[in-house]
Amino acid sequence: MGWHPELAAAIRPFSALRPPTVHCQIAMLAIPADVLLQVYEATMGRPPFLIENLSFSDWASLVHVMQCKPQELDAKVQDFPSNIAESCRKVAIENRELSLIIAKAEKIILELHGYDLSHLDTAGHVSISQRNETFSETYINRMSLSQAELEYFRKKEAERMSNAHTELTPLTRDAGHKFAKNSPFLLLASDSWTAKAVQRVHNRLWKLDTFNYTAPISVEAYMALAAITDAEVENCRSAARNGTIYFPATRGGFDAEFPPIAELEKGKCANRPLLHQKGIPKFPANLSELKKLWNAGRPYLKCTCPSCEKNFTWFDHMIWYIIGNLDKIDPRAPSDKIRMLEFQALLRTTWRKAILAQISFIFMREYMIKIVSLLT
Ligand SMILES: [Zn+2]
Ligand SMILES: [Zn+2]
Repeated sequence: MGWHPELAAAIRPFSALRPPTVHCQIAMLAIPADVLLQVYEATMGRPPFLIENLSFSDWASLVHVMQCKPQELDAKVQDFPSNIAESCRKVAIENRELSLIIAKAEKIILELHGYDLSHLDTAGHVSISQRNETFSETYINRMSLSQAELEYFRKKEAERMSNAHTELTPLTRDAGHKFAKNSPFLLLASDSWTAKAVQRVHNRLWKLDTFNYTAPISVEAYMALAAITDAEVENCRSAARNGTIYFPATRGGFDAEFPPIAELEKGKCANRPLLHQKGIPKFPANLSELKKLWNAGRPYLKCTCPSCEKNFTWFDHMIWYIIGNLDKIDPRAPSDKIRMLEFQALLRTTWRKAILAQISFIFMREYMIKIVSLLT
């Protein structure tokens, strides 16, 4: 996919750079051209470039700073370059080794619970080396390259390094690590992995190998989009700590004019869904309960028609899909830029409570993941 036509004027100075994902570009629509230029200049001529590598949440966090603490904008932009190389390096390792990282952690959890481990082959080693050195340093030194040649080569090498993290190893069960019958249930994939993987299924997160992935949107990004305050986030944190569920399945559900699930996927239910949250299970007694633990407190949309089977989606899956398909907001709106503002307005008003429930869920899941990392 290329550059969004509505960004054309803003990106003219860097239109030769690789266009980021649709979601990143939609977030960029909410940022003035001079700020985009400032981001571009922060790594101009020095890959990895921010423009190519910032995530949706990074861009959204810029929106947040612009709206809430504009005096910190310069510092925020200057801060990105110091982190980008390291984050690209981590992503490159993760892209290559994720299956094995998950297998190793799952083995420990399953062992604790006395489950069958035969599907997990964790014999391999997680390699954290850089695999993309094309020539040895010694060889290059012996080639007596001119200054110009050497500079050219170094620049090319840096580009290759920065591109390593764009090659995504799919989480298949056949590539080296054996995952035959069981799908992985640990959610150790980072947001940047998920953001890439979901492009293959046209931004339909529910089509990935498990149902458990969350949309790659950070708490700060939700705060930016829905104008959530620090105090409200603190409330979400206590809700997570206390296991507070705002919209339990046993009650009527929250009606905020959510789109019918049929708008996300043809053939699904065309009636308006309501929002509920998953309950919090007791300590898991078996593997299927253990898998449910990861979605404790998670907001979801479900229609009310009896015995309807094509009727469920996680709230955050819907949000991610809508950002990638903004015409669902209003096909007659004059531009995507104004649709993006309308989408944010929607999150700030009608869907605000749902966003707060989503943030609480993110904290609940963070607690779960922390428990796992203490064990592994
Ligand atoms: Zn703020
Ligand atoms: Zn239905």
